[in-house]
This record gives sequence, structure tokens and C-alpha cells, in this order.
Amino acid sequence: PANLVPQAPEDPLFGLAREYRADESPYKVDLGIGAYRDENAKPWVLPVVHKADEILRNNPELNHEYGPIAGIASFTTKAADLILGSDSPALKESRATSLQTISGTGAVHLGALFLAKFYQGGRTVYVSNPTWGNHHQIFKNVGLTVDTYPYFHKETKGLDFEGMKEAFQNAPDHSIFVLHACAHNPTGVDPTQDQWTEIAAIMREKNHFPFFDCAYQGFASGNLARDAWAVHYFIEQGFELVVAQSFAKNFGLYGERAGCFHAVTSPAEDAPQTIARIGSQLAILQRSEISNPPLYGARIVSTVLNDPELFSEWEENLRTMSGRIITMRSALRSKLEELETPGTWNHITDQIGMFSFTGLSEAQVMKIREEAHVYMTKNGRISMAGLNDSNVEYFAKAVDKVVRE
Ligand code: PMP
Repeated sequence: PANLVPQAPEDPLFGLAREYRADESPYKVDLGIGAYRDENAKPWVLPVVHKADEILRNNPELNHEYGPIAGIASFTTKAADLILGSDSPALKESRATSLQTISGTGAVHLGALFLAKFYQGGRTVYVSNPTWGNHHQIFKNVGLTVDTYPYFHKETKGLDFEGMKEAFQNAPDHSIFVLHACAHNPTGVDPTQDQWTEIAAIMREKNHFPFFDCAYQGFASGNLARDAWAVHYFIEQGFELVVAQSFAKNFGLYGERAGCFHAVTSPAEDAPQTIARIGSQLAILQRSEISNPPLYGARIVSTVLNDPELFSEWEENLRTMSGRIITMRSALRSKLEELETPGTWNHITDQIGMFSFTGLSEAQVMKIREEAHVYMTKNGRISMAGLNDSNVEYFAKAVDKVVRE
């Protein structure tokens, strides 16, 4: 009977946003959800998105008919160029297939569903500890088992590379490993290129399957190709792999749900036939899940990616966002160092992307929330974009106070 359905917990991030909205303090600061904010703590519609929107509105050819099951081709083609690399051997050798999805979440889900149905290796998916919380439930929901690999080193607040390598070595052959392509959520800690090379070597030896999740291309280094380096490298090494790609953050199209899923097979004479069969199965799954993906966000992205001038304007907009975040990292670190807040704070500027893992405990996070009206997730993650010239000092003082107590 229906009354046996148990109450599910509220999503922690959306719950945090709700608490923030209900707080009436004029000093409140939102460092919770991972969405870019401008220097006035307001959402930012990228100027290039405004332009693309204008172009779309003036196009009399556009209507609201159903799109194709695999999405808008001019979008998926350019999305593939962006993450796989336009000169990727996978594209040249016709061994990649791409489907438009409901943003990054939908791409992770489609990949999870496909692997649950067709992957011949292990049923366990290894995710980093910690990771984006949704990874756990997405993979569990399709019947796969989720386990974790060490990632964050509590003392150095950097990568636990030794622990990570050991876990990759010890996992059964043919395990699936979820890898954040860049700007790891929630820690802001990425492997270096040398470390990626070592990870790839272990994965090759163990025949592990890489599942890349790329939600922040352009946010880590401000350079699109550099942020996709790990994906490019693994493809060059001949891995078969999948990539979930989101345009939520780098286009500021959060609610429009523009994303893409890519599958790449290893080099082989029959690779084009293999990938065509994989594409056909993905299309069947997509049809039963969402029928066909939404048009608007993909049209915006496609308009920008297909026009060289708009493309460079987008890169400029990306630099505005990543640049402001980097400025805030230095500002926060120097405020804490000026205050001589106990502990070391170099990790604030060492970590990259949208988030910083402060190292604050759950008790400290709750205290800052109650006393200073600053909202961050219980694991001590802050969204750097929530900081600006008007609140960074206020936040540093709140941290200073709680650390000294
Ligand atoms: N993966 C990671 C690691 C993320 O941080 C996010 C965004 N929070 C996503 C995927 C997907 O987000 P979206 O569905 O909004 O594209």
C-alpha cells in the first residue's frame, strides 16, 4: 500500500538553498550551490548567451517540433570537438558516438544505464571519496554497486595520490572508475598531468574502464583544451571510455539542461561498426528515458560553438568567470593569513575550479551558519563564486573566529 512508502531525505544542496532563502539576515552569504555569481552576488547571463538568444529569436526557420532522438547534430558534433579534441583520433577514425542529454546529470545517467545493460566487466563503479553526491545515487539507481577510492588527503588538503593508486591497483580487473575530467567537485583538487599519466598506466594494466565526468571545462585553467587534457590523453592511449559533458556551468545554462554523452571505442578495424551498434543501443535507451532532448539550451550552445567570433567571445566570458574566482581565492587566502588564522591556507589558492574544500569540520560549518549566516555544505565545501569584494573579509573573519574557538 502507498502509505508504506517511506519519507526520503531532502536533497542536501537544494535544502541548503532553501534555508539560505529563508534567512532574513542582511549579512547572509550563499557559498552553497555551485552556480557562478557576479561581483554583486547575482546570477550572470553570459553576454555571448544573450547574443545567441537574439540570433535564435530572429530566426524565422526555428519552431518547436521534436528534435532527433540523439539531439541536435550541429550541437553534438561541436560538443565532441570540444571535449574529445577536434583532431582526436577517435573522431578521425569514426569511433566515437555522441548523444545530447539532460545536462551532465542526464549524461551520467545515460552512461550508467548503458553500462548496467551492456558492460561485460565488473558491476562495481568506483567513485572518488568524496565526489559529487549524485554519482552515488545515479549508479545505484541503475543496479550497479558503488564503491569509493581515496582521493582527498586531509592533512595536505591535496590529492591522496598514493591511496588513489593503491585502490586502482587493488580493484578487480575491468572495474569502472569515475574520473572528474577537471575541477574536481567538491575538493577543487585535480591530478597533475604526470599523475594522470600514472593513473592511465595502472588503468591500462588492470583493464579498468574510465568514465569521465566533465562539468567544469573552462573553469579549471580558463583554457578549454587544457581542461580536457586528461580525456585527450586517455583517448590517445587507446582506451575505450565514456564522457559525460555538461554545459550548465561553462555557459551559465544551469536550468536549460544542455549536455552531451560521448562513447569512444578502442582503435580497431571494425571500430566504426562497433560504435554504430553502441550508438543504436544508446538511442533505444534515450527513447525510453526522455524520448528526445530539450532544444533551447543546445541551440544556444550550438550557435556559439559554430561561429568563430561568438566562440572567442565565449572564451572571453569564461575567462571573466574563472578570473573572478581566482581573484577571490587570493583575497580569501590573504585575509586569513593577515588575520593569522590558525592553520595553513595555501590550499585555498592551490585548489582550482568553482569549489574549495576549506577543511572546516561539520561542527564549524554549522556554527558559521548559525552565527554568521554563511551557508556552505556540511563537508566544508565553499563555492568560490559566492564570494565578492563586499563579503570576503566578513567570511574570513567568521572562519577565523570559529577556528580559534
Ligand atoms: N558532475 C559533476 C561532478 C557536477 O559537479 C555536476 C554539477 N553539479 C554535474 C555532473 C551535472 O550537473 P548538471 O546536470 O547541472 O549539468
